[in-house]
Amino acid sequence: MSAHFAIDPLDFVRNTRALYGKIAVAKLVRLQNSLFNNQNELEYTIAGALDRDDRPIIQVTVKGIINLQCQRCLGELEYALNLLACLLVVRNEDELLHLDKDLSVEGVLAVPDVNILTLIEDEIILSLPISPRHQENECSTNKPTDDNSTNTKNFFAKLTTLKKLH
Ligand SMILES: [Zn+2]
Repeated sequence: MSAHFAIDPLDFVRNTRALYGKIAVAKLVRLQNSLFNNQNELEYTIAGALDRDDRPIIQVTVKGIINLQCQRCLGELEYALNLLACLLVVRNEDELLHLDKDLSVEGVLAVPDVNILTLIEDEIILSLPISPRHQENECSTNKPTDDNSTNTKNFFAKLTTLKKLH
């Protein structure tokens, strides 16, 4: 993993640093099982800031299109991402566990080498629909059962022909 993708959250907050970039969907390993294909690129920003209560936070934004698989027709389903997440910077695992009880707040550990790909991937995975589907009338309806049985018959017919040849 390149050092380019590691940040120190407290340093980002202290110096109000920000990072912009593009990431190939193909690099987000944990996401691959949910995808129809991984050709796209996403834009991201990572920025250090203070929230209204002067607590250190890391803001993550992710924008772009990913191609999911429709669970009804198994076709390609374009899904637009436009995410904004504020992660509270916490000092240790205990604080992180404490945060986990409050589902509306996410946290990130104040260690000097937080992998931003992991942060980005986490946000995307959290945002994905459990069962992505096209609108009712947008599914590709190219598999009526009659066709399938005809294909099967043709297949066996060909098989029989092949057998006769031998
Ligand atoms: Zn569909």
